[in-house]
Order: sequence, then structure tokens, then C-alpha cells
Amino acid sequence: MSEQRIVIIGGSHAGLSCAEKLRHFGCEAAIDVIDALSGWPIQRPPLSKAYLSEQDETGQDRFLLRQPEWFEQFNITFHEGVSITEILPDENRVITAEGHSLAYSKLIIATGATPRLLAPAYHQLDGVCVLRHKGDADQLKEVVQSSDIRSAVIIGGGYIGLETAASLTKFGIKTTIIEMADRVLARVASEELSAYCAALHQENGVEIITGAAVQSLSGTEGKLEQIELSDGRVFAAELALVGIGVIPDMALAQQAGLTTGNGIHVSENYQTSHPDIYAIGDVAFADAHAAIRVESVHHAQFSAMIAAGHITATEAGRAEAWWFWSDQYDVKFKMAGLVPAPGEQIHTVTRSGRKPGSLSVWSFCDDKLVSVEAANDAQAYMVGKTCLEKKLPVTAEWLKDTTNEIKTLLRG
Ligand code: NAP
Repeated sequence: MSEQRIVIIGGSHAGLSCAEKLRHFGCEAAIDVIDALSGWPIQRPPLSKAYLSEQDETGQDRFLLRQPEWFEQFNITFHEGVSITEILPDENRVITAEGHSLAYSKLIIATGATPRLLAPAYHQLDGVCVLRHKGDADQLKEVVQSSDIRSAVIIGGGYIGLETAASLTKFGIKTTIIEMADRVLARVASEELSAYCAALHQENGVEIITGAAVQSLSGTEGKLEQIELSDGRVFAAELALVGIGVIPDMALAQQAGLTTGNGIHVSENYQTSHPDIYAIGDVAFADAHAAIRVESVHHAQFSAMIAAGHITATEAGRAEAWWFWSDQYDVKFKMAGLVPAPGEQIHTVTRSGRKPGSLSVWSFCDDKLVSVEAANDAQAYMVGKTCLEKKLPVTAEWLKDTTNEIKTLLRG
């Protein structure tokens, strides 16, 4: 093909960051971002929080990921409501659901992930929701803003479940969280942070049930009424939010013959097994960067930057420690690094912060600092993240001595 064209499938955090970085790095090729959803892309983090409380339709612009002028300014063609159904890697073309063909010189797959579901029949009941896209949040918002909801059950005690539970309590809805593991946030947080989170929710009136499996959801006239657990306990609820994790959206990659597993396998440059195709964001699994598939806004932006840098042969920038955040009630959680699964070689130190009720949890693997989780403790987060990035010396023994000032760690 004579004209250089970069096609990005997926217009969320990863896809749009990549388009932006390509322009910052001097890319002059045509850039087409194709998204199956209709409308301008929206920021994901507020969907479980501020977006649910927004009453005013016109106030929704503040949640846009980029304003419409941005696409013009960066000369990016945005195709909304267009599904790519096939990638032809040998011909450098993608095919849309309408049968149109679009040629590319480089293709970036930023298709993200899809919520895991319970048995399909349960999702047919009115009041059973998931939360990933704007449409999901609109549906949930309609349910919670209607006055007749008294109680809700959240299935899954991950970040989606906990953040939504905090939002529902603001609407005065009695909320119960059902988690299969023996603690909330078991996949992503230390035992200490899980306990802190659980206590925070309980203080705010949320009931948390761990180690519990959902047996069935049922109702009458197509409306949810109750959730039964496998131990026979029954909870009445007009709303059930299913937040039980996500599945990487890699059907296109599989059809194209790219190497996949728990995500699309990519090199350290986020290049797939085909040299003209990259994968970034939640769908990409870069074991050169992390031993797990990282699902976060930071990973979306980081992978976008690295892929754009590789395509334009530009030095992309400094690698940061992985970071995450979450707002629940009046607590700001900030995490740096990846929390290891509990094990013999794992040690944690918990320190109180300066604000009442604040704390930080420092995890060590084989005496090496691997993560810092902070609740209302911005200083501990900032110092811990810097220690991780600059590999500054820090030991569990030193942290256990509460007379030691955390910020002195920055002196190295
Ligand atoms: P998640 O972090 O995987 O948490 C889901 C939880 O539900 C897990 O603890 C899971 O246990 C449990 N679970 C699975 N099946 C269940 C069942 N049938 N009954 C009860 N519990 C069950 O996923 P999520 O909370 O749905 O969030 C989706 C994605 O969005 C994640 O990548 C999350 O990190 C991201 N997100 C991030 C933020 C943030 O960073 N602030 C906010 C919202 C969402 P197992 O692990 O044992 O399966």
C-alpha cells in the first residue's frame, strides 16, 4: 500500500493513548480508531463512582475520555459503532461487519476485556447488571436512581464490586457483597489491605459474605427478587451487580492466528506474533513486563506508549512502577507495584499514616520490596513508588521501627 495507515481497534484508554502518542512521536500516517460502541469514548474509572450520581445529562461531557475537538486536533479518524469482524494478517487488512475492507501498515489491537457472566438466564432478569461500558453504567444508573430499590447484592468483591457498593450506599441502598474467595480483593491486594477494605465497608453498613458461592438468582415477571447461596442462605434484592472479573477480548486475534493464552501474547514492545500487529491494554499479556496480565489504566497508557514508540522508532520514556487507584467513601487507595500472592517468602509491614485511619502496607518478596498499598496515605504511596522505581534500599526491619520517618527513604 502506498499510503501509510495505522488502524487501532478499540477506542478506550489504551487505543486513544496510542493514537495520541503516535502523533507526539511524529507519526504522520493516517490514524483510524475503530470502536464497536456508539458515541464518544468515555473514561472508565468514574463509571462505578461519580457517573452513577450524575443527574444532569448535559454534565456527562466531563466524563469523555477526549473531547470531540481532540480528534480533529490530532487528525485522528474515529469510527464509532463499527465492528471489525476479521483481521487478514497476510494482506494487512481488516474487515468490518458491513463487509468493508480497510488496509493498514500497522494494526493495534486494543479490544480490552469483557465481564465474566453467570449463567445466561440470570442476566435476562431485570435488575441484573454488569459494569464495564457506558451502556452498562447507564442501565445501572437508571436502576439505582429509581426510588423503589431497597436492597442490592453485589456478586464479586473485586474493585468493581467494592467501588459500586460504596456508591450504592450513598443512594441509601442496603448492600451485600458475596465473594467466593475467603477475603475481598484476594486477587489484587494484601491480606492487610483486604481487611482494611472489608472493615471500611462494614462501618458503612455493607454486609460482606466471603467464601460463598451463588446457587441461583430468581424473580417473578422477569424481575430479580432473590439470590440464593449454595449453603441455602437467601437474600432479597431488586438489584444484583455481577463483578466477577473479566475475560480478555481476543477472538479477533485468535481468528488471525496470533499467539494467545490468558491474553494476546506480546513482546516487550507489545508486538504480537505478527510483526505488523501490536496488542495493548487489558487484552495484552507482556510477560517481559509482568508475570500476569495487568488490567489497569496505567497499563493501558504504558503499553500504548511503548507500542507507539516502537512503531515510530522513538525512545518512548521511562518505565514506572505499576500503579492503581481506587476511591471508596472518603478513602483514597493508591497502590504501586504488583502485590504478590501470599507465600512463605512474602513478608508485609503495615504502618499507620499521619491522618487518622490511614495506613500503608509494604510487601516484600525474598526481602525485596515489591509493592506498596496506601489508604489515605499519599506520602507512603509516593515514597514507596519511588523506592520501587529507583530500587532504593528499604527493609522490613527499618519500616517496623515507627520512629523512622518514611520520607528519609528517598535519600537512598
Ligand atoms: P476482579 O478484580 O477479578 O474481582 C472479581 C472477584 O470476584 C474476584 O475476587 C473473584 O474471585 C470473585 N468471583 C469470581 N466469581 C465469583 C462468583 N461466582 N461469586 C462470587 N465471587 C466471584 O474483577 P472486577 O472487580 O470484576 O473488575 C474487573 C476489572 O476492572 C479488573 O481488572 C479490575 O482490576 C478493574 N477495575 C479496576 C479498578 C481500579 O483499579 N480502581 C476499578 C474497577 C475495576 P476469583 O479471583 O477467585 O475468581
